[in-house]
Parts: sequence; C-alpha cells; structure tokens
Amino acid sequence: MPQSSRTARKAEPKAGRIQGAPLFCLGLLVSIAACEALAPSAPLPENAQLMSAPPQFMEWWQKTEECSGLRGDPSQIEWYVVPNVSVFSTGDGEKVGLWTRSSEGTRIILAGNYMQNELVVRHEMLHALLDHEGHPREYFIERCGLTWDSWHGGT
Ligand SMILES: [Zn+2]
Repeated sequence: MPQSSRTARKAEPKAGRIQGAPLFCLGLLVSIAACEALAPSAPLPENAQLMSAPPQFMEWWQKTEECSGLRGDPSQIEWYVVPNVSVFSTGDGEKVGLWTRSSEGTRIILAGNYMQNELVVRHEMLHALLDHEGHPREYFIERCGLTWDSWHGGT
C-alpha cells in the first residue's frame, strides 16, 4: 500500500502579507519597483538613523537632474540609513531603498549596504524629483536607466 508521504516542507514565510501582494522591492535582482510609499506617516524601519547625505550624493543628484530634466532641492530630503543590512522590512515587504512623502516631509531610506550603490540611491532620488508614485517608463528607463534591467553603470 503506497503511503502518501507528504514531504511537508512548509517553509512558512515570516511575513504573511507577501503572498498576493505586488513584489515591490522584495527581489533585489528582480526589481526595485514601487519603492515608494505615500503614507500619511510611514513608520521608519527598525534601526533607521538620520544621516547627512554623503558628498557623493550631490553628484548623483545632479546626474539624476540632468537625465530627467527635472529640478529639485535635495536639502529638503531627510536621509536615513539602516546600518549593516542589505534589506529592511516595510509594510510592503523588504526593500533596499524607499522614498516616502508625507505630511512629515520627504524621506529617503537606504539599506546600509547599498548606500554606495549609485543605482539604488539615484533610483530613490528620481522618485523624489518626480514627487509622485510609480515608475513612469519615460523617466526610470528611457531617460535615466534607473532600474536593475535598464541600468548601465551610470554612464
Ligand atoms: Zn522605485
């Protein structure tokens, strides 16, 4: 009698909300789509620390202004880093970077291990320059190449 041995290897994902939800920034190599949240008061990820933008960021901001044709004031952004992590958890899953705009202002939160990553940082900067939700193809792909697939090294 064949026994139906269920090799029950149910690795329950920790975050039950992942299922059915759009795969926002979950897969690092898949997409950094929808890294934004327009919440009234999005809570900061655990261990997030306010920081002053490294000098490198000003160059990246200018490059992002140039490719997009948009202008913005980077001093209006509150920068946060979650030190020593590659992703941080949010209500929308794990992310490497996050732009939020709320009544509390504009924030960009970065996973510490990606603070030197031009693509990740400038992707969030482009959100800030556009100042609205979503990833319009014209800007993120055609003009600036600021997605994992369209990125070509910042040249
Ligand atoms: Zn994004």
